[in-house]
Amino acid sequence: MHIGNKVIKNLKKELSNRDWNRYMKNLTYSPEESNNHVAQFYVPNILLAKWIKTKYKFQLAHLFELETKLKTHILVSPKQEKSPENEKKKFNNIHKKNQQNSTILNPSYTFESFIVGSSNQFAYTTAKSVSEKPGSIYNPLFIYGGVGLGKTHLIQAIGNHQILLGQKVIYTTFEQFMNKFTSHLRAKTMDRFREHFRECDILIIDDIQFLSGKEKTQEEFFHTFNELHQAKKQIIITSDRQPHKIKGLVDRLKSRFEWGLMADIQPPELETKIAIIQKKCEIDGIDLNQDIINFLASNMGNNIREIEGAIIKLNAYAGLMNQTLTLEFAHNVIKDQLIEKQKNISIDDIVTFISKELNLKFSDIKSKKRTRIVVRARRIAIYISRNITSSSMPQIAVYFGMKDHTGVSHAMKKVSETMDSDNNFKVFLEEIINKINQHSKIKN
Ligand code: ADP
Ligand code: MG
Repeated sequence: MHIGNKVIKNLKKELSNRDWNRYMKNLTYSPEESNNHVAQFYVPNILLAKWIKTKYKFQLAHLFELETKLKTHILVSPKQEKSPENEKKKFNNIHKKNQQNSTILNPSYTFESFIVGSSNQFAYTTAKSVSEKPGSIYNPLFIYGGVGLGKTHLIQAIGNHQILLGQKVIYTTFEQFMNKFTSHLRAKTMDRFREHFRECDILIIDDIQFLSGKEKTQEEFFHTFNELHQAKKQIIITSDRQPHKIKGLVDRLKSRFEWGLMADIQPPELETKIAIIQKKCEIDGIDLNQDIINFLASNMGNNIREIEGAIIKLNAYAGLMNQTLTLEFAHNVIKDQLIEKQKNISIDDIVTFISKELNLKFSDIKSKKRTRIVVRARRIAIYISRNITSSSMPQIAVYFGMKDHTGVSHAMKKVSETMDSDNNFKVFLEEIINKINQHSKIKN
């Protein structure tokens, strides 16, 4: 066996299934182009090549050294298809342009590996349109939503798509942007900083919520934003909340963000969670039976990163203990991570409670009656049901006799808006939720 292939085999032993399947599966060694000092590897595209060079170069070199006692220089290149001359040019261009990217993008974050459900449909669709026509329709694109719901995945999917088209993409977290800014400021090399950011075709800034109190960085970002926007370069931003809820965001940036399009990602529906878990298992080469998948989806929280962590943990345990995965085994392994859901609170309980609290008839809240007071009570009931029961939006829609989940989603939005604008209402709602929770504890 060629030494390089042996190294690949050894590397496989050191990596998790997940990393192997995501990044290395298609790594090949080229003996013809290698010698005692240089090892040439190929992967299908530039995204993977960059990722492997950054993350695994030393590990590969080390494995060579173990075999040959020689220092080996590792080369990882994207496979060059035998293509016409202009294709080649485009390809070289991609290579050159993307050499100075700030942070490399995870090649497994693509649109294909992103599962779409009603919770992220809008964000997905807008991200897709932006990746097809960057800089022209929604600029900036502002995606917001809770932790682990797929924001970074989605924006890196746009970035990856654009890199393959030969665009220069800069991806950075707000924190990295700030650190870079501070060090250039200190080194008096601000022109280089500015040049770097203004030379890109697409600027992606992740997790902008951390900007509070960083006025100087915000000001610099404001200028970067304006120049790129004027030059019709696409800007993509994420945050865990909407701009007007980010503490310390300066007004002029806030208004810039509002020029573009806001898209939110909501916690995934059960069906979407199941589909995501299935997809992850498929990509990562992990074999979980449907019972376990359903169990994870319905008993873990909405943070997909945590669910992924649980899948990996389960798989690793099963491997170590040489056990097949049973539901019971799964339950034991991840019992600390299971959420305690108030399964015993039903939508009926919530409507009963609200009807008493607001002095309304139970049947009115459940009916289609449109008086202002009843509509308000119904919205509250919907909001609370979605938050403290495990009912999905479609299930809640059925309960309230609505055509589909859009009515539920509308009610949720209205309640959130009122909470934002009216603090008394917010306090009132929190009290009701507390009381319902108390009540259910007594009931148990
Ligand atoms: P965020 O940036 O919102 O905190 P991430 O984008 O880092 O979340 O997502 C956390 C993990 O969950 C990632 O591994 C991502 O691939 C996965 N994930 C989240 N949503 C989806 C989805 N809809 N389809 C596939 N994977 C998803
Ligand atoms: Mg993120």
